[in-house]
Amino acid sequence: MGFVSVCCLRCHHPLLSPYSITPGRNDWMGIGVSITPDHQLQRGTHDGYGRLNNHKHGEHSEHGQSAKGDFVRMRCSVWHEACWELDGRPTRYQRPSVRARDQGYFFAAGSYDLPNPRPKHDHQHQPQRTPRA
Ligand SMILES: [Zn+2]
Repeated sequence: MGFVSVCCLRCHHPLLSPYSITPGRNDWMGIGVSITPDHQLQRGTHDGYGRLNNHKHGEHSEHGQSAKGDFVRMRCSVWHEACWELDGRPTRYQRPSVRARDQGYFFAAGSYDLPNPRPKHDHQHQPQRTPRA
């Protein structure tokens, strides 16, 4: 108990708990982007409790720390990072992501053995070469 997650606005699968991902297979489902209703964007690794930790990111983030909060309580728009990229990297709030019934954790083994939808298949989470848009 205590785990909490929401579903990605693009693929409708939950942002997985770090305790439930299979390394090398669906790591990408544990990395997310959230946007608060006042359009503050965060990227990072889901901690399993509704927060994104971005301390591992090389890139700067204006709004910084994971302490910034809880994307469930704040009713953020949330994507998997890969899905967010495929959606054209939106920077504006859209709508709240729905709560994941399985909390990103309680699901049958293999349920989310899904390929990373990103065209270039990088397993590791690397800072993006961001063309400025
Ligand atoms: Zn997704």
